[in-house]
Amino acid sequence: MAQNNNPDAHMILVEEALDIIMGHVAETPVEEVVSWRAVGRPLARDVATDIDLAPFANSAMDGYAVHARDLAEADDGHPVVLEVVGHEAAGHVFEGSVGEGQTVRIMTGAPVPEGIDAVVKYEIVEVLDGDGNEGSHVAFRKPACVGENIREAGLEARRGDVVMRAGEVVTPAGAGLLANAGAHTVAVHRAPRVGIISLGTELVDGSVVPARGQIRDVNAPALMASACDAGAEPTLYGIAPDDEDRICELVRRAARECDVVVTSGGASAGDYDYVTALVQREGEVLFDRISMRPGKAVTFGMLDGTPFFGLSGNPAGAFIGFELFVRPAIRKMLGHSELFRPVQTARVTHDVKKRQARRFYNRARVERDAQTGELEVTQAPTQNSAMLVDLHRGNCLLVMPDGEGGAQAGDEVSVLRYDLPEGTVL
Ligand code: AMP
Ligand code: MG
Repeated sequence: MAQNNNPDAHMILVEEALDIIMGHVAETPVEEVVSWRAVGRPLARDVATDIDLAPFANSAMDGYAVHARDLAEADDGHPVVLEVVGHEAAGHVFEGSVGEGQTVRIMTGAPVPEGIDAVVKYEIVEVLDGDGNEGSHVAFRKPACVGENIREAGLEARRGDVVMRAGEVVTPAGAGLLANAGAHTVAVHRAPRVGIISLGTELVDGSVVPARGQIRDVNAPALMASACDAGAEPTLYGIAPDDEDRICELVRRAARECDVVVTSGGASAGDYDYVTALVQREGEVLFDRISMRPGKAVTFGMLDGTPFFGLSGNPAGAFIGFELFVRPAIRKMLGHSELFRPVQTARVTHDVKKRQARRFYNRARVERDAQTGELEVTQAPTQNSAMLVDLHRGNCLLVMPDGEGGAQAGDEVSVLRYDLPEGTVL
């Protein structure tokens, strides 16, 4: 990258940054996992069922299995009486044949006996003698339709049919479907290993009471949580002080061991900010400034084939940088087709100032007005980048587009919903 005294000279747009990132991250290798463990992950390969679903015609009701023709004449004045010759309970199959004038007591899900074409629900059948099982007689006061209360075999899928396609995200219901299809395990992309490093001599671990001039490392836990939430497997490499060798050692180790490296801090061209220079020297820097606020100091590059994200040190910038750039990259590595959070339109409840060309991602909360049903968005009172409370309590980023010019109370604005999954239908 060409040298220039103005660090903002190679500032690029958010979309340009995303294009570069997506061009440099690839899906992780495929692994087999127990199907229910794949919940929330897209399948890497199609899954076909090894049996018909359902495997046999079965009853949709607790009741009596009949030949519909036997009940053709049934009415209130002339009930038809059938003899009960067997029963079907959970795991107990009636193997005999049901003749004319005969019926079998049947439970929901039990296989429908050979030749049977209807099930009459228990509630409308009168037991004349005995307990309703073998030897009893039961009366019917209405005809039954052919097929009534019978679920045909193969209704959901035929043996060999693909029941879940590559790319489909496994849901809890889908985990049941996979089990039914005989897929004890499924192929998914391995959760990307994300190495997290905090840079700054002033940082101490959260377990320590900071001395004057020190601050607790809040980015590492926030980014670890964000990585988990994105479906990745985070590893904490700890804090590196602003010392070139220490940073180099940690970053290189993380790059060797992980699929992605994420640092925060040390990326703002301050006196002690070595990380961009390090990636430049040891690998390749693809950009180091994005036209946005907060968190414009985002470095992206490649270190020994591993994507590297150097996020801004201020906590709001680090969090938003992860949301906007690292999370979609992780999703791409997992094979998701929906990479981005949903964006919706809402009416802003107050004026929004903007005197810079950079795109703003203001911390905000969107609610539906109880009276009008309209979405209304209200910005957090302060946009102080050191504070995380408003990102914690908020649910969206109010996106003020590139170029100067704010918004007025009542204007429609875009809000990025970081509380909703990618692909949510709004
Ligand atoms: P830097 O990018 O190193 O210039 O950091 C920008 C600001 O964020 C400074 O005030 C840092 O003290 C602060 N900061 C950097 N890293 C962290 C962190 N891990 N936790 C909390 N604050 C941080
Ligand atoms: Mg620093």
